[in-house]
Amino acid sequence: MTDYKHVSAEQWLEWDRNHIWHPYSSVHSPVTPFAVSSAKGVRLTLADGREVIDGMASWWSAIHGYNHPALNEAAKSQLEAMSHVMFGGLTHQPAATLGKRLVDMTPASLTRVFIADSGSVAVEVAIKMALQYWIGRGRSDKHRLLALRNGYHGDTFATMAICDPVNGMHHLFNKVLPQHLFADAPATPFGETASDQDMASITRLIEQHHHELAAVVLEPIVQGAGGMRFYSADYLRRVRALCDQYDVLLIADEIATGFGRSGKLFACEHAGIEPDILCVGKALTGGYLSLAATLCSEELAATICSGEAGAFMHGPTFMGNPLACAIANASLDVLLSSDWQSQVAAIEQGLRSGLAPAREIPGVADVRCLGAIGVIELQQPVNMATIQPRFVDHGVWLRPFGKLVYTMPPYTISPDDLALLCAKTIAVLSEEHAQHG
Ligand SMILES: *Cc1c(COP(=O)(O)O)cnc(C)c1O
Repeated sequence: MTDYKHVSAEQWLEWDRNHIWHPYSSVHSPVTPFAVSSAKGVRLTLADGREVIDGMASWWSAIHGYNHPALNEAAKSQLEAMSHVMFGGLTHQPAATLGKRLVDMTPASLTRVFIADSGSVAVEVAIKMALQYWIGRGRSDKHRLLALRNGYHGDTFATMAICDPVNGMHHLFNKVLPQHLFADAPATPFGETASDQDMASITRLIEQHHHELAAVVLEPIVQGAGGMRFYSADYLRRVRALCDQYDVLLIADEIATGFGRSGKLFACEHAGIEPDILCVGKALTGGYLSLAATLCSEELAATICSGEAGAFMHGPTFMGNPLACAIANASLDVLLSSDWQSQVAAIEQGLRSGLAPAREIPGVADVRCLGAIGVIELQQPVNMATIQPRFVDHGVWLRPFGKLVYTMPPYTISPDDLALLCAKTIAVLSEEHAQHG
């Protein structure tokens, strides 16, 4: 029998290459992933002994850095009690406490929490809530969604259908995806007042389709994986007003922006608005385990349950997982007892000054920062095969996509490490330009 435990790195890397799917990977042009053996603070230790500064926070999630003592302790003590029990007919303190905390830290109208197992599921749950709400009001004709171009909401079927229709996966799956409506992405940058021209597309779509619209779904202020764009708070305020005027729900997908990343605890706060349904995920467990949540108002919840089904119709096997909830509670303790506002503001300043020299590199189209997010947009897509190892050689972990080289480091990154991260990013882009033009 194969000894699966005592194997060389070469051996298990071969297993990985032969059998494992990585995100958006191809068996025809496998890109060898870097093997990680451990992670602590803001550094990943690779299997070959090298250390890299993590500029990605594992896709927005590891806000406190890795191997955090308080989160480790929460995980260990919860393991001693129980790792998981089913949530149907049973409950436990970690889930109840997490629900109460999320209600306390989000807009006042949001009082009901569905604990989901991933971000995509949380968005699916939000869509289902919106549809069941309109069924409850006797308006099952309101079943379509309106999303923004350049949006990203997940990879499952219902969420794919509201991702950007061009750079998403619509053409591949168009026979099975529901046909929703798409407004032009807001062009007014963050900090500016939205023009009527910028409002025209979404205004026209809501005016024409409100009778069949269940909800507008958007990422407030920061469009993440669909383009790393920061847009006007005024635009968001006006979309909220349109939804009120035409009786359409507003779903805010804060899976990337939640828990301080944009400089506010939730990005909706930049606009002073409350969504009808809110999705959170990613940083919820400080990057330890997959967990997400969908919140709605008491009125929504009551209407959902007055409909034909008499209940909200969703219940995953691992719903409310105690281990994940206990870690989430610890992560919220760490976040809310820290001066995260100052940390994020300092990172924003560090990114602004550290990434500014990128503007001088030929081929750079734009450099922008908001909160603890820094983006360098290029004129041409990067060559992943050459740039990824180069970042690692320079001691940083970044994972660009398309024309976007971006960073959202753990909030705990020191000023020195942040300066190093920025300087290395610029060094690599300069080298790439010198070699490939
Ligand atoms: C990552 C992300 C999702 C999907 O979350 P998963 O946990 O990857 O399913 C949805 N919406 C936004 C805005 C995201 O950034």
